[in-house]
Amino acid sequence: MDFTFSESEEQFRAEIRRFLAEHLPSDWSDRAFVGEVDQSERSDLARLVTKALADRQWLAMAWPKEYGGLDATHMQQLIYNEETSYHSMPGGGGMGVAWVGPAIMLYGNDEQKERYIPRITSGDDIWCTLYSEPSAGSDLASLQTRAVRDGDEYVINGQKIWTSGGHTANMGWLAARTDPNAPKHRGISTFVVPMDTPGIAVRPLVNLAGEHNFNEVYFEDVRIPGENLVGVENRGWYQVATALDFERSGVGAYASGKRNLERLVGAVKSDPALGERNPRARYELADRWIELQVGFNIAYRIPVLQAKGVIPNHEASVSKLYGSELAQRIAGTGMHLLGLEGQVVPGSPHAKLGGAFARAYMNAASSTIAAGTSEIQRNIIAQRGLGLPRG
Ligand SMILES: Cc1cc2nc3c(=O)[nH]c(=O)nc-3n(C[C@H](O)[C@H](O)[C@H](O)COP(=O)(O)OP(=O)(O)OC[C@H]3O[C@@H](n4cnc5c(N)ncnc54)[C@H](O)[C@@H]3O)c2cc1C
Repeated sequence: MDFTFSESEEQFRAEIRRFLAEHLPSDWSDRAFVGEVDQSERSDLARLVTKALADRQWLAMAWPKEYGGLDATHMQQLIYNEETSYHSMPGGGGMGVAWVGPAIMLYGNDEQKERYIPRITSGDDIWCTLYSEPSAGSDLASLQTRAVRDGDEYVINGQKIWTSGGHTANMGWLAARTDPNAPKHRGISTFVVPMDTPGIAVRPLVNLAGEHNFNEVYFEDVRIPGENLVGVENRGWYQVATALDFERSGVGAYASGKRNLERLVGAVKSDPALGERNPRARYELADRWIELQVGFNIAYRIPVLQAKGVIPNHEASVSKLYGSELAQRIAGTGMHLLGLEGQVVPGSPHAKLGGAFARAYMNAASSTIAAGTSEIQRNIIAQRGLGLPRG
């Protein structure tokens, strides 16, 4: 068993670091961490970076060349994800590359592939995911948004919630009910919906850290062409389930967690009194470091499986669960280490490390809910990993 990267993989990592050094301001990651970057600065930089990545065909590098990728290995894709998360790179392929594109490649017809895939790899389309509803999250199959066939069109009515980036996306990947009389898993279909279609209203939701990342999306008699149906009508649930497996394979939580832990270790080194005042936090730092090594090895297993043609399932749930809970533990260690002043939010002169850990702590709360809660991941692992009966 060899846990090292090959020479060419290390060269590739160096190439990505050069790209990031050339395209991100040197203080970008630290300013982003303390929330000193406003929305317009972030979107401007995201646009530039996305364009530069698209020019290199790096946005979807692991995709086949015929779809605008580079046929890069899954391990190269992981290295790219790791470096870009570590450096808090804005922009990139987002949901289009992570799961909408792969789902269209698997289930879409030739016309849909020709139409949507090149616009994902060029960075022209930004996608959001329209699955969750006020009464359908973990039990997604109970979703109620209706798509009713009317001649050559579908008419959509209903409400989605927690739509990340719904306010910046121009394209939506929608799961809606097409057969209300069928068993709930068998009456769902997936659609492509341009977000500027008349009848769509996007309303902001502000999280507990005061940030606007997700939204409510309302559909009122929204008409889309029948050709926007992706895959077989009423088989959408199974397509969504596969798309969720793509979603949960990320190494990002470990890479950004590593950066945060390094910030805390750096703070203790530059102010030893901090560590002396909080002797327990010193052991916590050591524990988090060990957990990061474990987490990286879990994440590195995913591209190895992908290279063998396996779509990661319970293995991806292990990575998502451990990474999101570790992100919370690292933020919690920051709060313990920095003490009461660590709880002061950015903007106050009394805030330790610019208040970044207070912000990280609040933001990390949602990481064990997004993309399927920890309980749901544990159910998947128990059932499909351990072979236990359904709970
Ligand atoms: C930051 C963030 C971004 C998001 N982005 C998107 C997005 O872009 N698009 C989108 O469609 N959705 C998005 N979501 C929604 C997310 O997928 C749901 O919040 C999540 O699936 C949980 O659903 P829920 O909020 O309805 O909670 P519920 O499903 O109501 O769960 C409530 C509690 O009950 C527990 N529970 C539920 N069922 C079971 C069970 N069978 N066994 C054990 N425990 C159970 C849950 O674990 C949880 O603790 C996002 C959420 C967050 C926090």
